[in-house]
Amino acid sequence: VGFELIGSPNMALTDAHCHLYEFSESDIAAYAKSFLIAAVSDDLESSRKTLLIAKRFRSVIPCIGVHPWEVGETPISHLAEIAKLIDSHDVHCLGEIGLDKKFSSSTISRQRLFFHEFLRLAKEYQLAVNVHALGAWSEVLSLLRKYDISRAVIHWYTGPLILIDEIVELGYYISINPSCMIQKRHRRVVEYLDLRFMLTESDGPYNYRGLNLSPQMIGDVVKLIAELKNLDRNTVEEAIYRNFKHLFSA
Ligand SMILES: [Zn+2]
Repeated sequence: VGFELIGSPNMALTDAHCHLYEFSESDIAAYAKSFLIAAVSDDLESSRKTLLIAKRFRSVIPCIGVHPWEVGETPISHLAEIAKLIDSHDVHCLGEIGLDKKFSSSTISRQRLFFHEFLRLAKEYQLAVNVHALGAWSEVLSLLRKYDISRAVIHWYTGPLILIDEIVELGYYISINPSCMIQKRHRRVVEYLDLRFMLTESDGPYNYRGLNLSPQMIGDVVKLIAELKNLDRNTVEEAIYRNFKHLFSA
């Protein structure tokens, strides 16, 4: 994978979950120069955009799929279209995929239909998955286990701490969002989770309670993790870089 060629390992900040296609052209170019980015998609159209961005920047790892918030508007036939994209492009990851029982519970049965199919594809093509599991933490985890998924990141985890034991036992990662600066539930995850299973993410562009989420915040996230873990910044940065590489380069 191209990103191994970029930068020195202890200088690389990584964004494991970013809706990069939503940013302006100039922001995309600027972020791709400074960060290694796993760029997630929300539907078929944005999956195509993400693949085009990844062709231009070797620091961008494309993740394609349909977001659980979008399945209500997405024809079932798009699943086959996304399978075609996997066949015809250098795709190593599906995302943003998953289930959401908190913000879009009304479409949950359709969400399950899409998520099961994506997990089947992930298994078939040996892909990593970039997962949304808001309010559906244990169901998502049991499905990842059921489909025998080997590489996964659960993004912006705010579920029960006890489930984290199971997540790391399965060898999955959790990506830490800048919200940990103000969201107590997420900050507790930073305190509880072993650095060996931790990634950083922005989920940008998104405004969370006044935080303007973008890859530019990743440095501050690393700094806060270092403070909470009582480690020096370089140790945290290097560990997270290694985790990122392990998840996305297989
Ligand atoms: Zn997202």
